[in-house]
Amino acid sequence: MSAFSILLASPRGFCAGVVRAIATVRLCLQEHGAPAFVLHEIVHNRHVLRELESLGAVFVGSLADIPAGGICIFSAHGVPKSTEMQAKKLGLRTIDATCPLVASVHKIVEKYHGEGYDIIIIGHRHHPEVEGAAGRVENRVHVVASEDEAENVMVENPGKVACVTQTTLSHEEISGIREILRRRFPHLRGQESNICFATGNRQNSVRLLARQCDSIYVVGSKNSSNSNRLKEVAKNSGIQAFLIDDYHDIDLGQLAGVTRVGITAGASAPERLVEDVVRFLQAHGGGEARGIEGVEEKIRFQPARLEGPGRVC
Ligand code: SF4
Repeated sequence: MSAFSILLASPRGFCAGVVRAIATVRLCLQEHGAPAFVLHEIVHNRHVLRELESLGAVFVGSLADIPAGGICIFSAHGVPKSTEMQAKKLGLRTIDATCPLVASVHKIVEKYHGEGYDIIIIGHRHHPEVEGAAGRVENRVHVVASEDEAENVMVENPGKVACVTQTTLSHEEISGIREILRRRFPHLRGQESNICFATGNRQNSVRLLARQCDSIYVVGSKNSSNSNRLKEVAKNSGIQAFLIDDYHDIDLGQLAGVTRVGITAGASAPERLVEDVVRFLQAHGGGEARGIEGVEEKIRFQPARLEGPGRVC
């Protein structure tokens, strides 16, 4: 008899934006050969990065690291306008793998800013998605990461404020901040949140999983925002949760007394890592793995290419 059973979240792992970003790099390598330079991490998962590197992708921290005439792919998180302009100036050919859902947040930022609004972005200040969204406009843009900051943010005209959120936050994380902003700026514009469907679906599935498990493993890298949120959502449900890059990070001591283990994966974590975790757990007392019911995601995005439209929105 197995010591514990294993339940799998559904949906889990790759979202449509990540699939598109990875497909964009692969297509670029196929059509134009190696190297394909990618500004920053195409998605926040070290296994995905190593795999693409083995095919000829080169991840760079700065546009200056790319030779003139080289191809530069912008990551799924999006980039500031200044990066696009600098790439042009340096004579780089660019492919924009910004997730279309992030690009739609950029459009909202640009639209309200163009109408004279101050923009408040609820999100993590140094996350590339937030830096990219904030950098779509030159001024009157404020990043708010906490309720404290929401209380203190200073805007030019309190009657003209619009708000967007990072796509990978959780509702728990933003509801208090939104409430403060609404109190301070009664005419606040913008949607309740810009949390994307994939983030929402993975979090809902973890909430369901947490009701049935004593412990949850979230497969994802430490710098993956949505993976961290999955861990938080599980913990907020009152159970233990661990963020692991792969099965090597599992400490078997964590399984003492556990009867049901749940597994999910962040939007940038490949399914094969989940399969490895399942095999590892089964080798250490786990039973058959069973998926819980969840929504089926049908959204697909076409990869971006050099000659095609960079943004599919
Ligand atoms: S998590 Fe959402 S916004 Fe981010 S890449 Fe995936 S689909 Fe796009």
